[in-house]
Amino acid sequence: MFQEVWKSYEENELTHSAAHHLMAVHELRTRHGYARVSDIAQHLKITKGSVSSAMKHLKERGYVREDHNKFLELSDKGAKVVAEIEAARMAFQRFLVHALGMDEDDAEIDACKVEHLVSAETRSRLTHFLRFLFSEQPAARVFLEALRIHTLEHGAVIAAEEVFAGAIPDGVRDRA
Ligand SMILES: [Zn+2]
Repeated sequence: MFQEVWKSYEENELTHSAAHHLMAVHELRTRHGYARVSDIAQHLKITKGSVSSAMKHLKERGYVREDHNKFLELSDKGAKVVAEIEAARMAFQRFLVHALGMDEDDAEIDACKVEHLVSAETRSRLTHFLRFLFSEQPAARVFLEALRIHTLEHGAVIAAEEVFAGAIPDGVRDRA
């Protein structure tokens, strides 16, 4: 199963670099009203040549097109992907900082790594989880405080070999 998943991602999905090219187009157009190859290169701190070849590929795949001034803009498909990536990044960042207590900068880096990879279902369920967790529900308040104390008592860092030690009770596993 895992073998097939990573192979299909390599073939079909956006690379992390392509995702950031699309986000750059979105950000520059929002900020300045236009996005040329040179603007994107400056924004991403890479060469114009590599932006050009990335954009050629993204145009061919229907994520990007040129506006009436021959400047770059996102297609509907590109805009949808950018919205999904930004939503996933936001959800992960909130989860890592506000639920797990991570440092903002570390959380931003990890959220950046996964933003373009997660499914709509993961993003949606994580969003539900966060909405519940930060709601006025008394159970959520109690849970967050108990989690905070647990993490303080046991230390934030757990060695990889210890990760599998915590058994999940049958009742919890069956309900999933
Ligand atoms: Zn990223």
